[in-house]
Amino acid sequence: MDGIGPMLYEGKAKKIFAAGRSDQVVQYFKDDATAFNAEKRGTIVNKGVVNNKVSERLFKLLEERGVLTHFLERLSDREMLTKKVTIVPVEVVVRNVVAGSLAKRLGLQVGDAIEPAIVEFYYKNDALGDPLVNDDHLRLMNVATPAVLRELRELAHRVNTVLKPFFAERKMQLVDFKLEFGVYHNKLILADEISPDTCRLWDMATGESMDKDRFRKDMGKIEEAYQEVLKRVCG
Ligand code: UDP
Repeated sequence: MDGIGPMLYEGKAKKIFAAGRSDQVVQYFKDDATAFNAEKRGTIVNKGVVNNKVSERLFKLLEERGVLTHFLERLSDREMLTKKVTIVPVEVVVRNVVAGSLAKRLGLQVGDAIEPAIVEFYYKNDALGDPLVNDDHLRLMNVATPAVLRELRELAHRVNTVLKPFFAERKMQLVDFKLEFGVYHNKLILADEISPDTCRLWDMATGESMDKDRFRKDMGKIEEAYQEVLKRVCG
């Protein structure tokens, strides 16, 4: 592509490159997989391609429904042109069903419905292991104002309102997911990715995991699950 510049940043699952314009970047999706704060590492063949295409589809859907995102254009199998944002260091998790850390922390039954959906904030900080935080903690650390947190929560619920039925129509239960937001020209917009790396998706027919839990828990058929999500979302 015209104008791909030097690498600006390398994360666990993506690399970020400069683009032709200073207010845009290129996200490159890798096959590298990590879990448990990078204690577990591996590769999921063609994960990058799946996550790029699934994210494209979901960002386009969200834009159609009035949610602003950083998505501009998919450039290739593994590259996406996006607006260059300043990431808010908060992982915004939305939960429709009890699973993962919520089940562990509160002793709740995995699979129980959460109605209405709940939103949690985690402070994005690898050294601290991304701790669960509340609004007061984020305000104390000058990470986000109460107004920004209110907006993050509202946007997260709106995204859930769009994505939950979209996945259900494709026979996948959207159990939970993680969003990241960024500031672009003084506006909060959805950034990062939405993919089987960042969502829990359960097959509605079998209850089987179709997401990164297969990697986290060594359940096998990881590549197959990612390809099936791609097929159902983009096919
Ligand atoms: N999640 C993520 N990145 C993280 C932590 C969580 O994408 O660093 C996603 C995860 O895939 C799941 C949701 O956020 O869909 C809730 O994760 P949870 O808090 O249950 O943590 P986990 O048990 O996955 O570590």
